[in-house]
Amino acid sequence: MKIRTDDTVLIIKGKDRGKQAKVKSVFPKQNRVIVEGINIALRHTKANQAVRQAGIIQKELPIAVANIALICSNCNKPTKVGLKIMDDGTKARVCGKCSYEQL
Ligand SMILES: [Zn+2]
Repeated sequence: MKIRTDDTVLIIKGKDRGKQAKVKSVFPKQNRVIVEGINIALRHTKANQAVRQAGIIQKELPIAVANIALICSNCNKPTKVGLKIMDDGTKARVCGKCSYEQL
């Protein structure tokens, strides 16, 4: 999985298509990520013993990595990321547009 926490991504599918936001958390096994303010589910709650405040809770649901594109921090364009193995064995992510390398 090439998306990391704090990456800026572009939503390319779904109701939030076209929005840019920051990745809050990643779930590599599910190939899903939670993106700030994206794919929000509203839950109406009634006050009970556990929740004193009745109202609407907003919660971000994970979205599939296939529905987002990484925004390159160098050229600021949505890009397909390549992987490159560096001389010391670490993997760098390479922007498909400007060839910028970032970890
Ligand atoms: Zn780039």
